[in-house]
Amino acid sequence: MATRCMYCEDSLGTDIDHFQPIANAPLRAFEWVNQLLACSHCNSNEKRDAYPCDADGLCLLVDLSREDPAEHLTLLLAAGVYEPRTPKGETTIEVFKLNRPDLVRGRRNAFISTESNLQSWYRRHQEGNETRADRIATALRESPFADVLRAMERLPERVAVIVLEEETLPALETWLTGGFSRVVRDLNSSSEKGG
Ligand SMILES: [Zn+2]
Repeated sequence: MATRCMYCEDSLGTDIDHFQPIANAPLRAFEWVNQLLACSHCNSNEKRDAYPCDADGLCLLVDLSREDPAEHLTLLLAAGVYEPRTPKGETTIEVFKLNRPDLVRGRRNAFISTESNLQSWYRRHQEGNETRADRIATALRESPFADVLRAMERLPERVAVIVLEEETLPALETWLTGGFSRVVRDLNSSSEKGG
């Protein structure tokens, strides 16, 4: 599976980012939860050794290895822009430049292709063509900007009916109930088999 940068979810993760910089926490350098896969742009150009903390010394960046980013950031799907929900979300957007123009454009495009892929996944699923449906499901999960799909999965219904195309609604509902959980179950059982 293509592993994307954990911050921008666009480029492939090629660097290991020490979430808490080595200079700042030498003992955490080898702790695996402190090592996040990042692209070289996010790691070298944006984050570098940034590790902003509040007055109590608590880190002001969302720690992707143990925190749910959705608690701190909301993705505005049609605009492709992240909005902060907390001060931590605000600092994270700032440090990683999560609203840089190439990412915003990429998320807007991903929103369009994710909707149409979901719709064709649903059609194949309804036709009983599970082989094709599974291929589309894998493509959906491994595409750049998987955060767009995650944001769609979490949309409150009252927002979904406004933001999504009408044909996407039954597709998303099936994805979340039957289809999606089946994909997750398959992934879990194949990883159990593979050790
Ligand atoms: Zn990146």
